[in-house]
Amino acid sequence: MKPKERLAIPRQKPKELSPSERISSFDEVVSGFDHDMAVLEAERCLQCKKPTCRDGCPIHNNIPEFIRRLREGDVEGAYWVVRETSSLPAVCSRVCPHEFQCEGSCVRGKKGDPVSIGMLERYLVDWMVANDRNIHVACGLPKDKKVAIVGAGPAGMTVAYYLAHEGYECTIFDNLPVLGGMLTVGIPAYRLPRDIINKEFDALRGCGVNIVKDVTIGRDKTLEDLRSDGFSAVFLGIGAHSSRKLGIPGEDLEGVIHGVDYLRKINIGERLHLGKKVVVVGGGNVAIDVARCALRTGSDDVFILYRRTKTEMPASQAEIHHLEEEGVKIEFLAAPVAIHGKDGKLDRIECIRMELGECDMSGRCRPVPVDGSNFMIEADAIIPAISQRVDHTALKDMDLKLTSWGTLDVDPDTLQSSVPWIFAGGDAVLGPQTVAKAVYQGKIVAESIRRFLEGEDLKKDREKWEPVGGGKKKK
Ligand code: SF4
Repeated sequence: MKPKERLAIPRQKPKELSPSERISSFDEVVSGFDHDMAVLEAERCLQCKKPTCRDGCPIHNNIPEFIRRLREGDVEGAYWVVRETSSLPAVCSRVCPHEFQCEGSCVRGKKGDPVSIGMLERYLVDWMVANDRNIHVACGLPKDKKVAIVGAGPAGMTVAYYLAHEGYECTIFDNLPVLGGMLTVGIPAYRLPRDIINKEFDALRGCGVNIVKDVTIGRDKTLEDLRSDGFSAVFLGIGAHSSRKLGIPGEDLEGVIHGVDYLRKINIGERLHLGKKVVVVGGGNVAIDVARCALRTGSDDVFILYRRTKTEMPASQAEIHHLEEEGVKIEFLAAPVAIHGKDGKLDRIECIRMELGECDMSGRCRPVPVDGSNFMIEADAIIPAISQRVDHTALKDMDLKLTSWGTLDVDPDTLQSSVPWIFAGGDAVLGPQTVAKAVYQGKIVAESIRRFLEGEDLKKDREKWEPVGGGKKKK
């Protein structure tokens, strides 16, 4: 195909449930590409000599190579190309904000739509599953060394994946009754069906990983206890599960529930109905998910307050589009200043209009309140979803160095903490971030722990290092 012909192919759009079908269930909204769409989309790739898409992918997936194999009909080969660098392709292809990563760096995006890289990756995984192919890699021969992994989110899953495939005995501890960390309690099933997460844990168990739920490290067991139990190294992948507060009067009234607390309840299976009118505060994907969950649990007047404009919203465009299709309105340039109530229960939210002031180096402008522009909104509930921070319960008996943000302070090359046998990664180090970034840190930590256990230099030749145990097809 000539380059001109490739450029003429429009970006393919996957099938989706209609808005009315969506809001009555938690069924997956986007159903992915069929074979013809996948091949046509793959034909749009220009096979660049310097593939900028790879630089945009936090785990540097070999995107042009998997696309080349896909369009030549080698779907299974294409899948294994992705698997060389990714421990969680089924997850990342669905939930990563591709527009800010690989697709945001694709050259085709300079004059039109980038290649739909996320959907192509998802097609590979869906094809493998639909055609009954094994999607997991071979397990390693058992070694007599134990590693504890605190937190069953994407960083912990990745550390367990790479170390278990090298044969180390891994045990994952999590304080929740469900596995997957933020993948499960932060991302609703309509974006990430639970069977996808469950299959990843089945594969980890298949390689000998022990999984212990409902145990809080720092309360039921300390880090020192883990050491006494024979774990030679510990990985802290505890995420950032605590909500940041708005810090305004009335935040303790009934009817106020913070974003990640709300999502945790909904995603564990509680069907919370917050009333008819619900106000969500924030502009990121958590705020969008909260609003869409409130719709799905019976609130029919849901809207979002965001203190900047649509251009500055950190949420992915696809999620904003779905939200608006489902009937959620966004009130831009507005923020709450007080929550009012009667008899301990919220009934009105006092807000103020904002305008954009000075911009920083990145071009992001500071919202500034407009004097005298206060207004009231009547509501049954408010869900602030402005950010998350790290919960330090697990660190109770350990004097670990923290940053001024409250995240764990680690060596940037090895992710080793201030206590040599403790490593950390994912949101606990980065603050709230994407799944792919957690996976990338999981890979770094797995290599650091391997070297630590084998008495090797943690820093030597890191730039030449390849992930341990990854990408080998199961025989
Ligand atoms: Fe293909 Fe875009 Fe990557 Fe170029 S930058 S190789 S067009 S996906």
